Amino acid sequence: MQAACITGHGGNEVVEVQERERPARKAGEVLVRMHAATLNQVDLYMRNSGAGITHQLPQTMGLDGAGVVEEVDAGETQLRVGQPVVIYPGVSCGRCEFCQRGEGVLCVKMQYLGEHRDGTFAQWISVPVRNVFPSPQSLSYVQAAALGVNHLTAWRMLFTKAQIKPWETVLVFGIGGGVSLAALQLARAMGAKVIVTSRAQDKLERALALGAELGINSSTQDVAKAVLAHTGGRGVDVVIENVGAAVWSAAMKSLVRGGRLVTCGATSGDQPPADLKRIFIRQLQILGSTLGDYAEFSDLLGFVERHRIVPVIDSEFPLARIHEALTRLESGQQFGKIGLNLQ
Ligand SMILES: [Zn+2]
Repeated sequence: MQAACITGHGGNEVVEVQERERPARKAGEVLVRMHAATLNQVDLYMRNSGAGITHQLPQTMGLDGAGVVEEVDAGETQLRVGQPVVIYPGVSCGRCEFCQRGEGVLCVKMQYLGEHRDGTFAQWISVPVRNVFPSPQSLSYVQAAALGVNHLTAWRMLFTKAQIKPWETVLVFGIGGGVSLAALQLARAMGAKVIVTSRAQDKLERALALGAELGINSSTQDVAKAVLAHTGGRGVDVVIENVGAAVWSAAMKSLVRGGRLVTCGATSGDQPPADLKRIFIRQLQILGSTLGDYAEFSDLLGFVERHRIVPVIDSEFPLARIHEALTRLESGQQFGKIGLNLQ
């Protein structure tokens, strides 16, 4: 089968589409014929260095994906051969303290596809049956694949961590990225108001068309001042951000008293000034979040189907053009997910 692998660390020269052996399904696993996957920032991280993540080269890239069940255990009751499915990207150990209390996403031995083990940028994958979920019927394979990392991350940030309410307002930094767009879609679907920021005016306009209430151009406007002006001096209830140092101060100043900031990334730096006095006097909450667990993924899929949410796809490439897809992701020009067609 064809698979996109990292053969070393560096630029696109270490990414090769190779002929690899089709995985043999073990008992308790599902063999999935993959139709699509999407790119995530971590794919660039693994290509560039993979530092701190135990892995063996060559390793197939990719975390999320969607396809069709090819083989499954005879006694399986939930999945059937030929069924369209979407893949949960982490394999937890099931035995550690966190797994035992039902928080597999905190597993100390978590193995992510495309990070610690072969991933989804391949024509076939075999994963534990609990990682395989029926795909929402309304979505294409690329759209379904997009849910596996970014929408799941946004789901946990909004609903599990921030516990956002329909009457609240959320500020989403850096609209155009996968998690930010997912947060906009999910928060809007449940009824919350959403304010977004970007340095690109065209991205703000597209976000307004998706239901954002206000778009703030962070290259020409003071974000915190614009938020306070729009909210009558009150501020927002929730901030969703994955930019880090560059927006931290604006994020803190945009929060209402008792507001919650949820962070899942720090692409611009991870050591911003803490602003502790503001945190305790205004009783702010700072919440960290990464991905989501199996139950959250199941809830997300049901929510997506009920509210007819369609992930935004920026562009699609065949597997053979993986370099162009990675370059597009690295450019930061995209609005939505970059898809890979695998068949
Ligand atoms: Zn565990």
